[in-house]
Amino acid sequence: MEEFDYDLFVIGAGSGGVRACRIAASLGARVAVAEERYFGGTCVNVGCVPKKLFSYAAHYRDDVEDSRGFGWEIPEMSFNWQTLLKNKNNEINRLNGIYKAILDNNQVQVFQARARIKDGHTVEVDGKTVSTKYILIATGGWPWIPDYEGAEYAITSNDVFHMAELPKRLLVVGGGYISVEFASIFSRLGCETTLSYRGDLLLRGFDEEIRHFITAEIGHDIPLKLETNIDKIRKHDKGLRAFLDSGDEIEVDCVLSATGRKPLTADLGLESVNIELAKNGAVVVDDHFQTSEPSIYAVGDVIDRVALTPVALAEGQIVARTLFSGDSKDMSYQNIPTAVFCHPNLGTCGLTEQAAQNQGLNVDIYVATVKQLKHTLSGRDEMAMIKLVVEQQSDRVIGLHMVGPDAGELVQGFAVAMNAGATKADFDQTIGIHPTLAEEFVTMRTKRKEH
Ligand code: NDP
Repeated sequence: MEEFDYDLFVIGAGSGGVRACRIAASLGARVAVAEERYFGGTCVNVGCVPKKLFSYAAHYRDDVEDSRGFGWEIPEMSFNWQTLLKNKNNEINRLNGIYKAILDNNQVQVFQARARIKDGHTVEVDGKTVSTKYILIATGGWPWIPDYEGAEYAITSNDVFHMAELPKRLLVVGGGYISVEFASIFSRLGCETTLSYRGDLLLRGFDEEIRHFITAEIGHDIPLKLETNIDKIRKHDKGLRAFLDSGDEIEVDCVLSATGRKPLTADLGLESVNIELAKNGAVVVDDHFQTSEPSIYAVGDVIDRVALTPVALAEGQIVARTLFSGDSKDMSYQNIPTAVFCHPNLGTCGLTEQAAQNQGLNVDIYVATVKQLKHTLSGRDEMAMIKLVVEQQSDRVIGLHMVGPDAGELVQGFAVAMNAGATKADFDQTIGIHPTLAEEFVTMRTKRKEH
């Protein structure tokens, strides 16, 4: 008789959890997963995927506006939120089914219930107590709203995907990924949108020059209240009044708080085991995603390293392989490409100029601000920026940043080159594709003069 009911019990069927289930099962492990909410986690249900569908919807407005300079006469545009919601919901339901099918097809036992850890090898789920050799915590994160008067009137990114109606006036609070993406999206869908952020430049953590640039670009389209926090929200019969600490008061129909996410570790039974938690509740793991309780591992947003779906997938895969194939590959957090789907898009890979300097590296900077050919006729007042950070000693491109259309599509390819160790000379030897914005990456020859 087997010592345990399962080899691996995964808590959370999001990106990292499902990937770990699939790989572990394919390696012959007996796997179970508990998911009390939805299959596919944040990414599929209230994150990347529906957000990108909304982002496509938003881009049609720009496209139609831009088309006029090219001779298109489209008399009147109107947008139907219900159509977008219905079609989005159908697609998400389809994806939920696919995620469930991945689990079923791999003979993973699915519990649609909350799981609580009893000890390092025991989980309570759906009224049963099951034993397992290993446990993987992949419970993700949850949006967080600061505490202030009327905060209960604010909604989060979880709610925007199910709003019964599109608000006429929207205040978005925060200056991170979610805030700038939704401010861009909802302003295009027709909401009168204002963005309020406590810092002076959007997107902390990104390259400073890029932050200046994107803040200015977004500021062309959306009123920005920078260095401003929200003091309170009051509800009245015609909507909400948001009181900002600048003294401004804004009348809106909806306040979207995009003020960060917190790891989901509550009510998991963690108090019954010896698991170290960071101050913000994140599960602390070592380089192999093992917690301080040796049979328990954790991956994804719940460990609060890099909160991106492809990172959770890679982490989940590494854990499954480490446990069931003995192939303990290390996770590399270098050169993780990422994109912010604001308007214009922002894409980045590798180090910011500031991070390179902080590491004591001597770098050359190549940067260009470009008006795309398209906008010579569209009349759109939008510029693009591309930037390379090159380490002097090795000539390697260690940072690549851009603001411009389809930045995610573009930066993904350059990330491969960077992972392969591409140098500035390699970039220079590459023939450009003309006329594109991407060709600027291989045609920049002049270093930025130091200030
Ligand atoms: P971020 O951490 O990116 O942004 C949170 C924002 O809220 C920051 O601007 C922060 O300000 C502000 N904030 C935090 N606390 C307070 C407070 N008490 N009062 C006022 N403002 C506050 O979180 P998001 O929720 O936007 O996104 C979470 C993560 O999800 C991202 O970091 C990213 O990893 C991932 N994500 C990825 C996407 C993509 O790949 N395209 C899209 C969406 C999310 P400050 O900067 O001053 O700290």
